[in-house]
Amino acid sequence: MQNLLDFDAQQLTAWFAEHGEKPFRAKQVLRWIYKAGESDFDAMSDLAISLREKLKLTACIKTPTVMREETASDGTRKWLLDVGTGNAVETVYIPEEDRGTLCVSTQAGCALDCAFCSTGKQGFNRNLSTAEIIGQVWWANHELGKNAPSTGSGQAQGNWPVTNVVLMGMGEPLLNFDSTVSALRLMLDDNAYGLSRRRVTVSTSGVVPAMDRLRDECPVALAISLHAPNDALRNELVPINQKYPLKELMAACQRYLEKAPRDFVTFEYVMLAGVNDGVQHARELINLVHDVPCKFNLIPFNPFPQAPYQRSDMETVKRFRDVLMQADIVTTIRKVRGDDIAAACGQLAGQVQDKTKRTHRLQEASQ
Ligand code: SAH
Ligand code: SF4
Repeated sequence: MQNLLDFDAQQLTAWFAEHGEKPFRAKQVLRWIYKAGESDFDAMSDLAISLREKLKLTACIKTPTVMREETASDGTRKWLLDVGTGNAVETVYIPEEDRGTLCVSTQAGCALDCAFCSTGKQGFNRNLSTAEIIGQVWWANHELGKNAPSTGSGQAQGNWPVTNVVLMGMGEPLLNFDSTVSALRLMLDDNAYGLSRRRVTVSTSGVVPAMDRLRDECPVALAISLHAPNDALRNELVPINQKYPLKELMAACQRYLEKAPRDFVTFEYVMLAGVNDGVQHARELINLVHDVPCKFNLIPFNPFPQAPYQRSDMETVKRFRDVLMQADIVTTIRKVRGDDIAAACGQLAGQVQDKTKRTHRLQEASQ
């Protein structure tokens, strides 16, 4: 059975062509799936009955299975999705007054092993498929939109709760390039979710060659996990820096901005007490980024079991922000959301894995 969520518009059209169907059929089906949120071929009323029967025999529309669901006191929602072989990834929905942001995962685990990240500590398990990535958006819209009036028809304009997507869940999106880009295309496609490029953000730890590819193939808003102002410290915190050091990363940001939908990149900077949060670090950053139009987002460190770091206190974070602001760099401090359900950055799906492989390993090691 072919899962149709694995195809972007072009791939779906090609698959339909292989099955002797015209391109406009693919477009109709796309609209049913993403605009109407329909997963039942029988309900796709403007398709010929023979086509519906054919689709029922050869295809399916299948999102990952939800293992658990939680709602935080601030309205943040989290879904734990089963991706097979004892693995889980998470999707987090963050409601705000003027938008609804979905934080989407792209890999089960992550190979890059950043020192402060609980996903990294789990190691790499596997890439998610396009269906598993776009399925997170489909599922969230389906769940959150349950009380909304039904769109009724595949031609209706979907008016979904998810207005913004950030690829900041588990995994490094640019190391799962093809599936990620197909999913991005569905987020942007007018016959699917039709989100503006400015409302879709890829977050990367700095995979330089893939940043260039993204710029050429599917430019969207870009966030870089910077976390350190010099190579010595960044090599330690974000090991991929050893391969693509800061000078190359800054040059890649400049190249990206030539085609980006926004005229700045966002630098994410997790504040680790006594490690990277001093005024001298802020000054060094100002020098580092002086040729790159940017904003900074300071992230309070989210602790996890056995984490070797502590969260900087608010006074230190504000002082750091003020130094950057004095150099005319717009700097925000990220609000901690969903803290009571462990839905904050870098904490995702820690527990399931903790209870299985990682804790097991630790137990073995200590015996
Ligand atoms: N792999 C990508 C995207 C996923 S991580 C990347 O690294 O950018 C999303 C963001 O959460 C990154 O900025 C990451 O550095 C940050 N993060 C990871 N662990 C964290 C933690 N324990 N506390 C706060 N932020 C964390
Ligand atoms: Fe991977 Fe991002 Fe975590 Fe680093 S911060 S280990 S790149 S998920």
